[in-house]
Amino acid sequence: MDTVSSRFIQGEGTPESVWQAWLRRHPLPAATTAQIVSPARALHVVAPHPDDEILGCAGIMRQAARLGASIHLWAVTDGEASHPDSPRWPAAQLANERTRESEWALHRLRVPATRYRLRVPDGGVEPQEDWLSARLARCLSPGDTVIAPWHLDGHPDHEAVSRASRHAADASGCTFLEVPIWGWHWADPERGDFPAERAIAIALDADDQGAKRDAIQTFRTQLDADPSTGRAPILPDFALDRALRDIEVLLR
Ligand SMILES: [Zn+2]
Repeated sequence: MDTVSSRFIQGEGTPESVWQAWLRRHPLPAATTAQIVSPARALHVVAPHPDDEILGCAGIMRQAARLGASIHLWAVTDGEASHPDSPRWPAAQLANERTRESEWALHRLRVPATRYRLRVPDGGVEPQEDWLSARLARCLSPGDTVIAPWHLDGHPDHEAVSRASRHAADASGCTFLEVPIWGWHWADPERGDFPAERAIAIALDADDQGAKRDAIQTFRTQLDADPSTGRAPILPDFALDRALRDIEVLLR
């Protein structure tokens, strides 16, 4: 199933209890960060919005840093479109706040990352796909590892970032892996639309899980309701449950 209409991000999505039951019956092949990131090289994490990097692969970033790899975080947009028409969060103010949250999350994660703020318009990555691919390729070296969202993640920015990142990684001789983020929401493993045959699971120890939990708590703009519009949090508990597992899953 890879039509756009099958990937709506709405409602509460597939509950974590469904994923856990499915994972117990279909354990994913285990892998280690050392198998996907070379200590002498760089790990590039390409995040469409500030928080995607932490939700998807905070533990892997920590483990790669411990191995000695240099960590590069590409903040493609500033996420300024998450609160449309909000008196509390005008777009320019939200862009700066979400950037600050992402920087603080890296600090809490204790990952010495270099963060590149690309300022592509939130919700407008697709028209910038070629530019993004060329921008990334200028900084990639053979043997580096690139992680970007799943190309069927369900959010147009995520899917555009995935395509651009894969193109840049392939052209640069890098290892490329996809990370589902909104995919955990729209996909239903019982319906067969999760690509289990390409998935690997990387275990997080208690320290990594705790640091990830702490880092996620910095994203107050996403975790708190907006009293000025009455809108619910962007990241409610049912979404956090899917991000706080003891594994992180990548697609080869
Ligand atoms: Zn996102």
